[in-house]
Amino acid sequence: MKADILKPVERRPYRSWVEISREQIAMNYRAICRAVGEEAEVMPVVKADAYRHGAIEVSRVLEAEGARWLAVSNTEEGAALRDAGIRSRVLVMADFFSYTREILLSKELTPVLHSLQDIAELDSLAEKRGLANVPYHLKIDTGMGRLGVRAQSETVLQAVRSSKRLTLEGLMTHFASAANYESSQTAEQAEAFKSLLHFLCSAGVQIPYIHLSSTIPVAYGRKDFWAAGNNVSKVLVRPGHAIYGYVSPTRGPGIYQTIDVRPALAWRASILSIKDIPSGARVGYGGIYQAPRPMRIAILAAGYADGIPHRLSNRGQVIVRGRLAPILGAVSMDLTTIDASATPNLQVGDAATLLGSEGQVSIDAQQIARLAGTISYSVLCGIHARVKRIYL
Ligand SMILES: *Cc1c(COP(=O)(O)O)cnc(C)c1O
Repeated sequence: MKADILKPVERRPYRSWVEISREQIAMNYRAICRAVGEEAEVMPVVKADAYRHGAIEVSRVLEAEGARWLAVSNTEEGAALRDAGIRSRVLVMADFFSYTREILLSKELTPVLHSLQDIAELDSLAEKRGLANVPYHLKIDTGMGRLGVRAQSETVLQAVRSSKRLTLEGLMTHFASAANYESSQTAEQAEAFKSLLHFLCSAGVQIPYIHLSSTIPVAYGRKDFWAAGNNVSKVLVRPGHAIYGYVSPTRGPGIYQTIDVRPALAWRASILSIKDIPSGARVGYGGIYQAPRPMRIAILAAGYADGIPHRLSNRGQVIVRGRLAPILGAVSMDLTTIDASATPNLQVGDAATLLGSEGQVSIDAQQIARLAGTISYSVLCGIHARVKRIYL
C-alpha cells in the first residue's frame, strides 16, 4: 500500500463541524463590489442563517467591510441581527405576516411589501403608532410568478400615492431564469420592470433605490439587467450565493463568469471507528454495498441528520488524508461509512472532509449537488444546526 499523501486536517472535539473563513466572505464581498463598480451598491443576502454560514458572524464581517444593507427572508431573522447589534439597514424580503409587523417596526427592519393591500395595512399601522415616513420596498412580479404585485401601472401609482405615512424607498423584482441564456424571460422581466419604473417616475414618484439582481446577472456581467432602470434611482444588487463563494453554471453558450469568488465553508466529520471487513461483507442498511475484496472501512460521525444528502448513498465521496474516499452503502441518520482502504494510517478521531479541500483535492457544494440530484443552495442550507461552527 502507498503511504498517505497528507497529514490529516486538524482534529476537533466534535462529531461534525464547519469551518468558515471570515476572510473569504470578505474577499467574496469585495469581488462583487468590484464587479458592480460605482454603479451599484451591494446588499448581501444573509437569509437562512447566511446559507448556514451563520447570519450573525457573516453580517458582522460584511458590516465591517462597509455593507450598508443586508437582506433576510423574515422578521425573526432580522430581529436576531438587531439583537446581535447589527446596525446596517435590514431588508425583510419574504414576510409581512400580520403577527410580525409590530416587531418589524420596533426593530427598525425594512419590509418588502408584495401586494397593494400591504401598503394600506402598513399605512394604518403607522398611523396607529404615530409614525411617519416609514420606508418600504415594493416588490413587483414581473414574471417570476411568486411574490410581488401584479397590477396595472396606474393602480400601483394610486396605491403608492394613497399612503400617508409611508415612503416608497425601493422598487424591486426578482428574476426567474437569469441563468438561462436560451430564455427570453429575463429580458422580458427587465422590460416590464423598466416600464413600470418609468411610469412611476414620470408621474413624479421618487424612488431612491431599485434592485433586480441576485448573484447570477452580476456574476455573468449582465449589466443591462442588473442596472435596468433610470438615472435617478440608486441601484442595489442582492447577491447571496456569491457571498458564500458560489455561482451556479448557466445554460447557453459563450458565457463567462466575471467574478472570482471561492467557497468560504469547509465541512468535516470525525472518524468514529475503523475496521477491516472480508470480501463479500455487506455494509449498512439494506446491505446495498458488498465488499468485492477485503477492505478497510471508516465510519464517520455524521449522517443525513447533519445534512449529508441520503442520495449520496453508495455514490458520494469524502476526502481523507488528501485522497477521495467513496461513501459505501446507505448514508444513515448519524453515521456514514467510507472506504478507507487507500489510507492505512487513518486513525479514529481523524477528520474527514465532506465539503472543502485537502491539498489538491476538493469537493464543493455544486459537485455534491450534482451527485445528489439537488442544487448547491440546498446542500449548503441542509447543513444542520447541530453541526458545530468554527470561524477562522
Ligand atoms: C435568495 C434571494 C436572493 C439571493 O439569491 P442568490 O442566487 O443566492 O444570489 C436575492 N433576492 C431574493 C428576492 C432572494 O429571495
